[in-house]
Amino acid sequence: MSAIIREEQIQNIIMREKPKRIGIQAPDGLIGSVLALSDSIESRYGVETVILFDPSYGICDLSNLDAERIGLDLVINLGHSVNTERVGKYTFLIDVEYDVDFIPVLDKAIAQFKGRLNKVGVLTISNHKAQLDLIIRYLTDRGIKAIRGPGHGVLFGGQVFGCNYYNAKDLVEDVDAFFFYGQSRFHAIGVRLVTRKPTYLLDPFFNVIEDVTSGAELIERKAILSVLKAKEARTVGIIVSLKEGQFFMKQALELKEKLSSFGKKVFLFTMREITAQRLRTIKGVDAFLETACPRVALDDEEFDRPVLSYDQGLALIRLLEGGELGDMFSSPFWV
Ligand code: SF4
Repeated sequence: MSAIIREEQIQNIIMREKPKRIGIQAPDGLIGSVLALSDSIESRYGVETVILFDPSYGICDLSNLDAERIGLDLVINLGHSVNTERVGKYTFLIDVEYDVDFIPVLDKAIAQFKGRLNKVGVLTISNHKAQLDLIIRYLTDRGIKAIRGPGHGVLFGGQVFGCNYYNAKDLVEDVDAFFFYGQSRFHAIGVRLVTRKPTYLLDPFFNVIEDVTSGAELIERKAILSVLKAKEARTVGIIVSLKEGQFFMKQALELKEKLSSFGKKVFLFTMREITAQRLRTIKGVDAFLETACPRVALDDEEFDRPVLSYDQGLALIRLLEGGELGDMFSSPFWV
């Protein structure tokens, strides 16, 4: 298995835009490709490249604001395709596909679920976009009717982000279960939590099928526990991310005002990478609340005190107001 970077797409962009200097940006999983790509672009097109070496986690995490001061004419961002090529003034999203064979894991799913599931919704991430229709046809031809969502905003049909599950929510009344095709347990768990439908991770790399129900229950229990612990906090730190698509200052200020009205001492922080190691350096804060990326709060094991996502923060406020915790995961869009 290897990752295939669509170099002809890069070529078309360079021919069309005629840049003198371009930035190359990639998630950690593709960072091993950037040196060869930089070398190839410089030697083939005579274009200077700058490798933007911080990890890029998604289209929330681009460098349009930095491009100007670095003197870039454009940035190519690898592996985060959506249904538009250009995002912001400088960034072009380059398709990267995994050429993994999907048939073994689909055959396994057919053997396991044929006759038990009549209709499933199939979801995935950008790196399997080209396989999605083939997967749907393969399942349907062999007795499991498979469909995908129609697309939503920038999401192509069937795509989910770790914070955006519209393509699952749109199908919830139409299917018996969801298949998440790929390796990310977090995405599959997100589908399960948003839809409350049986959800199976179909991992083509290890040829494994996993019912993510217990993983979803664990994340939900931990999320609830964090909110209950944060309720007792006297001092709260609210973290605003400086990443371009994660910058939610207004929401942070609203949370600050609310929490202050309940007698909490609130400090505002800005950060780019929210890590357990960095948070440990602050001693006088009992709980953190981050308005950056829900995955930071929900999917990190290492924090030494409660760290809440925005939706958990809203649940905390409901509790402080004397209401119920409510369902923190019902919205298809998690902040
Ligand atoms: S889950 Fe986090 S990293 Fe992924 S797209 Fe959403 S905000 Fe970005």
